[in-house]
Amino acid sequence: MPKNSPTSLDPRSPLVLDTRELPRRPGALRTVKRVVPAPADLGVELISVPEGADLDLDLRMESVSEGVLVSGTVSGQVRGECGRCLREINDSVSVTIQELYAYENSTTDVTTEDDEVGRMQGDLIDLEPAVRDAVVLALPTNPLCRQDCPGLCPECGVHLDDLPADHSHQQIDPRWAGLSQLTRTEE
Ligand SMILES: [Zn+2]
Ligand SMILES: [Zn+2]
Repeated sequence: MPKNSPTSLDPRSPLVLDTRELPRRPGALRTVKRVVPAPADLGVELISVPEGADLDLDLRMESVSEGVLVSGTVSGQVRGECGRCLREINDSVSVTIQELYAYENSTTDVTTEDDEVGRMQGDLIDLEPAVRDAVVLALPTNPLCRQDCPGLCPECGVHLDDLPADHSHQQIDPRWAGLSQLTRTEE
């Protein structure tokens, strides 16, 4: 049986929604448009929304019988590193969120597991877990500066884009040259 954690949310926190202005009558709607600073660690190891960068919230809150449905988009800039060549990546991410937050002590609150639906804490909704899940899912675990990034020369670490096509570090016996080409394409 789920337990409500004691109210510990700060209504002024950027990713906390205050629903006091939203009537608890199914169908009542409020839109939330705001730009908030991104929390720390919003992303994956190689690519993330930098902490403090603008995160655009374009959401609507809708009263349903046992809680509030929050839906809309969250978008922002992401910065990362190419998994092959370590060049900087600057990109943007835009994710869709749709999450039900049950009123405290409603039937939904009492009869569902903690991971099935969100929970309200009084009139407050903590958006951060939903935003974090959506952003992390949307980001590549192995980001590339471009799909066909050839990466770095394993010998000298120079980007293969910046090297001539016949770049190599050994004098290759012409009889083995064909074999060497094969090995390189496999890497
Ligand atoms: Zn790259
Ligand atoms: Zn090299």
